[in-house]
Amino acid sequence: MTTALAAQPSTSSTSGRAVAGQRLEPPAIHAICLDIDDTLVDFTGSARSALSVLTGRDDMWPAWQRITDAHSARCVAGEFDYDAMRRARTKAFLADLGTQLDDEAVAVLEDRRLAQMSRGSRLFPDALPCLDWLRAAGFKIAAVTNASRPHQRGRLATLGLARFFDAVVSAGELGAAKPDPVIFHTACEQLGVEPDHAAHVGDRLDLDAQGARDAGLHGIWLDRTHTGDPEQAGVPVVDSLAELPALLVTDYRTPTVTSASAVPTPRG
Ligand SMILES: [Mg+2]
Repeated sequence: MTTALAAQPSTSSTSGRAVAGQRLEPPAIHAICLDIDDTLVDFTGSARSALSVLTGRDDMWPAWQRITDAHSARCVAGEFDYDAMRRARTKAFLADLGTQLDDEAVAVLEDRRLAQMSRGSRLFPDALPCLDWLRAAGFKIAAVTNASRPHQRGRLATLGLARFFDAVVSAGELGAAKPDPVIFHTACEQLGVEPDHAAHVGDRLDLDAQGARDAGLHGIWLDRTHTGDPEQAGVPVVDSLAELPALLVTDYRTPTVTSASAVPTPRG
């Protein structure tokens, strides 16, 4: 866990310290926004596995990501609905591989890939303990996702997560995607908190942590794969969701937990 970075709240070393006659207190946080894919759910793992089954190859993930990003942006912009987007994406991907298929054949393959992916979808082991702790600590909780899929509440219910969330905001339904401040402000509005009383946690430094920070929330980067330089991130960094409770009680004022000693040991 790395803290003490620019433009972020007081750290434990400065919390409560008297400076020039003023007592500096950590910022109060009443709500937590969480990204879903690759933050709570191992989306990339299941998507890569399903793509390998579809293509019979293990080296196509970067190409798939490029085509997916381009088509998802068109979906958020309203050019496609979600089902049309995923079929168009798969058709374009296969065409790039030299395989021209008609719409019916593409639909069959895409449905097969999606079913494979759904069967392989897994929560990260630290997701439920963290959500349990956040709920017990009294935070309001929102899911904030760039997924273009509709009905995110249904998806969260399938994963056993719906009971934790007071609000679910998705780019596909809102028409604005992270790092657009609109999606973060919509989540705060639905939770009934000001942005500076909310933190957002996600696996993308740019879209999640820095986007939230620039929107006036407290951005926290979940760097599960240790790909970044914490000193350059400009936001607090945690390696896993198991580190989040300690960060929150150390660097912020939280609803009911006031000291790190009150952090329970996550299970799992
Ligand atoms: Mg993500």
